[in-house]
Amino acid sequence: MPNHPSLTSSRRAAAGPLALIALCAALFGCVHRPSGPADVPSIHAWTWSTIGQSIEGRPILARTVGSGARRILLVGSIHGDEPWGRLALERLIASESGSFLACGGQDGPTLRIILDVNPDGTAADMRTNIRGIDLNRNFPARNFTPHTSRGATPLSEPESAVLFDELHSFNPDVVIVLHAIRRGDPFVNFDGPAGYLAERFAEAASLTDPRWTVRPEMGYATPGSLGSFVGKDRGVPILTVEFARAHNAELAEMALLDGLRAVYAALRDHFDSMSETRFRASGRSQR
Ligand SMILES: [Zn+2]
Repeated sequence: MPNHPSLTSSRRAAAGPLALIALCAALFGCVHRPSGPADVPSIHAWTWSTIGQSIEGRPILARTVGSGARRILLVGSIHGDEPWGRLALERLIASESGSFLACGGQDGPTLRIILDVNPDGTAADMRTNIRGIDLNRNFPARNFTPHTSRGATPLSEPESAVLFDELHSFNPDVVIVLHAIRRGDPFVNFDGPAGYLAERFAEAASLTDPRWTVRPEMGYATPGSLGSFVGKDRGVPILTVEFARAHNAELAEMALLDGLRAVYAALRDHFDSMSETRFRASGRSQR
């Protein structure tokens, strides 16, 4: 069965709806339209769309919130044995503080969340999909080379194909993917013109957890990776956010909230200077 977001309680104290709206507007520049609090969706009542299926038939779930001009695609998990970022995301969605995810307004982004690209791997606690293919090496990047762990061809796996299609249909300005590093402290890696976003995310996250840093290079080759395809080839900013293994859930949630908030602010600052994205120029025919 898929892992739906749990309705865990948050460390953050519950506030009334009006206080939440005010907090949301104050922190994230959301414009609350005068028609009433019904404009702010209840995060506890989120419903998810099925955008595809894994090999074993598990749904791949997505949800769009907000309606701002800038578009962020946030992937909760792609490696099934690295659940800590996705768990932080689920906590954030279920928490009162997570309301900011849902406030679009004219200054906030449109946020497309894909909860878990690899639900089979998550169910089996394995990095790869159920056929042993690393989905994060199965993209049509120029550096792709066939391998038993990467697939004979790019997008050979239904799960990576779903994400590829989402990139083209949603056409994000920024992509953020949550991972967990095998050992060591959490960090933010990036590809494409995303250095300032990585700095802002890590700086914000480090205020409550000083372990967070920016690591511009992973230190090893990543043929066929999503970062190579999105960032290096298409020039679209992509952040690879590496939580720690067994990351403390509360710290992970705080880092994600503060990091996303910083990215939102950075996008507002750079609204006019960001380049147009490249996904619309290609599509399935480019596979
Ligand atoms: Zn990973």
